[in-house]
Amino acid sequence: MTETPKTALTIAGSDSGGGAGLQADLRTFFACGVHGMTAVTAVTVQNSIGVSGFTEIPPGIVAAQIEAVASDMGVNAAKTGMLASAEIISTVASTVDALGFGRERQTPFVVDPVAASMHGDSLLRDDALEALRTELLPRATLVTPNLDEVRLLTGLDVNDVAGQRDAAEALLALGPQWVLVKGGHATDSPRCVDLLSDGTHVLEFEGPRYDTPHTHGGGDTLASAITAHLAKGLGVPDAVSAGKKFIERCVAESYPLGAGAGPVSPFW
Ligand code: PLP
Repeated sequence: MTETPKTALTIAGSDSGGGAGLQADLRTFFACGVHGMTAVTAVTVQNSIGVSGFTEIPPGIVAAQIEAVASDMGVNAAKTGMLASAEIISTVASTVDALGFGRERQTPFVVDPVAASMHGDSLLRDDALEALRTELLPRATLVTPNLDEVRLLTGLDVNDVAGQRDAAEALLALGPQWVLVKGGHATDSPRCVDLLSDGTHVLEFEGPRYDTPHTHGGGDTLASAITAHLAKGLGVPDAVSAGKKFIERCVAESYPLGAGAGPVSPFW
């Protein structure tokens, strides 16, 4: 027998192909040395080619999963992935609030504002964007949008680091403590810059851009690696730095699988 490990909770959807969603989160938690727990929000029908359907879990069951693990095992850090609907977002917001997760609170709470898959399949109902903006972002310790999600949340079309700074300001105005504007989808730069800001500190994390189509689950893996490091007690900038190093290795080691996009690999 050994010591009880730190725990991390993902509130997210299932990917039947095992590349993204809560499957990627659990793999990442394991690879980062924390015990992973799940509150399932939706079940997608998905393979390497795309998402062909999904069904939502009733909001009361989503809340009950979060409460069950929090009351017994404890949660050192939590993250959200696919939340699917406005009802699930509202329920998650009030549940995590009651448990003391979120900005300036005891348990770090990372919001990955998942809206669509890399193939453009929607993972969020149209009416849910406003709930994400007004109910969840103000509670986040850290929000981790890619540039498509920045456009949906702020209306800003960003394609360089100066634009990422403006986007961070616009997102901070919605209430999260920290914002990580991921630049992986910017086409103007040969390097990949992620910009982290809390309004006072602005940090740039730069890395190589890998030329691979196999990046399925990349966003989920970065957010869950950051969450795992927060669970271990790191502050936000150090957890982001560790998460960024982790995802770079995962993208470098990604593998082909199926006819479409293969996953990033947390096993190296
Ligand atoms: N499926 C689920 C359940 C997800 O949560 C996500 C991303 O968060 C995806 C698919 C999309 O992953 P990708 O954009 O890497 O294809």
